[in-house]
Amino acid sequence: MATQEIKSISEIKLISYASLIVAQVLEEIEPFIQPGVSTLELDSLCEKMIIEKGATPSFKGYGGFSGSICTSINEVVVHGIPNAHSILKEGDIITIDVGANYKGYHGDGAKTYGVGQISDEAQRLLDVTLEALHQGIAQVKAGAFVGDISHAIGTTLKKAGYGIPLEYTGHGIGESLHEEPAIPNDGFPGSGPRLQEGMTLCIEPIVHIGKPFTKVLRDNWTVITKDGSLSAHFEHTVLVTKSGCSILTTTQTKEVTHG
Ligand code: MG
Repeated sequence: MATQEIKSISEIKLISYASLIVAQVLEEIEPFIQPGVSTLELDSLCEKMIIEKGATPSFKGYGGFSGSICTSINEVVVHGIPNAHSILKEGDIITIDVGANYKGYHGDGAKTYGVGQISDEAQRLLDVTLEALHQGIAQVKAGAFVGDISHAIGTTLKKAGYGIPLEYTGHGIGESLHEEPAIPNDGFPGSGPRLQEGMTLCIEPIVHIGKPFTKVLRDNWTVITKDGSLSAHFEHTVLVTKSGCSILTTTQTKEVTHG
């Protein structure tokens, strides 16, 4: 992973703009997430939106990935490849993971959506995962530790009885899509690297209703839960500030501050 550098004001502007594009795409795609739509159609729509906003899809061609976004349905954990045969059905959940590259700087965000009416069990998974993301973000400020974020996320997810696949982590972001530090989804407070003002981080709880074990399909990308249980994933790009952080992958300005 590339080293995290403290970002300059001009770099922060570019990362913020790339992140805003990600947030807009995640909002604009929502009405299209309906039974009968294929993940390839969602991919084409998102790619068009990203390009219309002046950016390029960060994931396209990354390590040979063919999609502009990742589309992960139900037991697919991450890195689902958009294709014409994966058609959404009523009651599915789907994670859309979007990366935008604006003038050489990236923003990265993900959200798990319900397709039509979803089960109470699936809704609880989505609610708890989003809550874990916000608990993690609430720990971010200059001087805090990566482990503080990890512990807040892990505590929320484990209290719900969910399995955390620890091989998938959050990360720094900037000129590279993945920079140091890795941000695990469980850990000990006060451990790991210290956060500094001007760091840009992707915080992304990834979690299963069942056991934490995963398996990679033969396409070498698609990761599924070994037990077939549902998996969810929410992600924001944030900027570390002196007293908290700014959430960058949002269409409303969102400052999180605490003492
Ligand atoms: Mg990410």
